[in-house]
Amino acid sequence: MRNRKTAEVLERFSKKRLAAEAAAEARCLEVYAAVPEIKEIDKKLRTTAVNILAIASSGVDVDEKMAALRAETDAIRAERERLLEAAGYPAGYTDIKYECPVCGDTGYVGTKVCDCLRREVAAAALEDSGLGSLAKTQSFDNFDLSYYSGEARETVAHAFRTLKDFAENFDGGEQKSFLLVGASGLGKTHLSTAVAKTVIDRGYRVVYNTIDRIIDDFQAERFRDLMTYDELADTYFDCDLLVVDDLGCEMQNQFSVNCVYNIINTRLNSGKATIINSNLTSEELRRFYYDRITSRLFGEFHVLVFKGEDIRRKKLQNR
Ligand SMILES: [Zn+2]
Repeated sequence: MRNRKTAEVLERFSKKRLAAEAAAEARCLEVYAAVPEIKEIDKKLRTTAVNILAIASSGVDVDEKMAALRAETDAIRAERERLLEAAGYPAGYTDIKYECPVCGDTGYVGTKVCDCLRREVAAAALEDSGLGSLAKTQSFDNFDLSYYSGEARETVAHAFRTLKDFAENFDGGEQKSFLLVGASGLGKTHLSTAVAKTVIDRGYRVVYNTIDRIIDDFQAERFRDLMTYDELADTYFDCDLLVVDDLGCEMQNQFSVNCVYNIINTRLNSGKATIINSNLTSEELRRFYYDRITSRLFGEFHVLVFKGEDIRRKKLQNR
């Protein structure tokens, strides 16, 4: 709960909380003007807190005095409701109407984050993750293994189970990393999107981007200073899960190789999870990159191989 998006969501919460309180205050004033007795009652009710403190600190007959005070307060409240209704107002008219009655739009219940805040932060994070429209259409629920057959189905089913288990148990601690290899159109992007979405829903910060765009971001920092180095590091090195698409499709030069190495190495060293998709085979990746990259990729990433025919083509044929 530390990035800019979260701060924006909390700012929105604070605004809607203040708006709900201001609206209730306005309804209260309206009622006071129409039924002055209710204003007197509210004054009396406000002294209750002081009375409770006085009883508690006196230490004498605390239970009995508390019970008596409670009964008195209940009677006053009932009278207030009766007057409100008699004047033609609906029950609870002057109550504050929070959007979330659980946390009163504060986003917290005690020190725990309320579900409503968690949902809003996840939605904002999804918008910010780079996943875009992919997240709307690709989930574990709509991943269809029936497009695969034979050995291909077994390997993809294994990848499906492994990644689903990883996503559903993601807890931000020391994490595994995955390398998904295989020709395009076999479901790598679908499954890594499903992981990203699940992990975002669990409240973690996920960044999703293609390798060439990531390299562009680092280039831009070097030449045009669009993003500061700290922002880049925060995005690509520090997020809880980084999903890199299309490794091996980038224009290769010393800068791009260093960039790929830095990302892989920094994240492995800090125990942060990374999922890398590549349309190249393991052998092609070994030829494409230097040993210092492939030794980390194949030594420390969990490799999941995707086989079979292009299922996008199959889906189109089945329409
Ligand atoms: Zn809430």
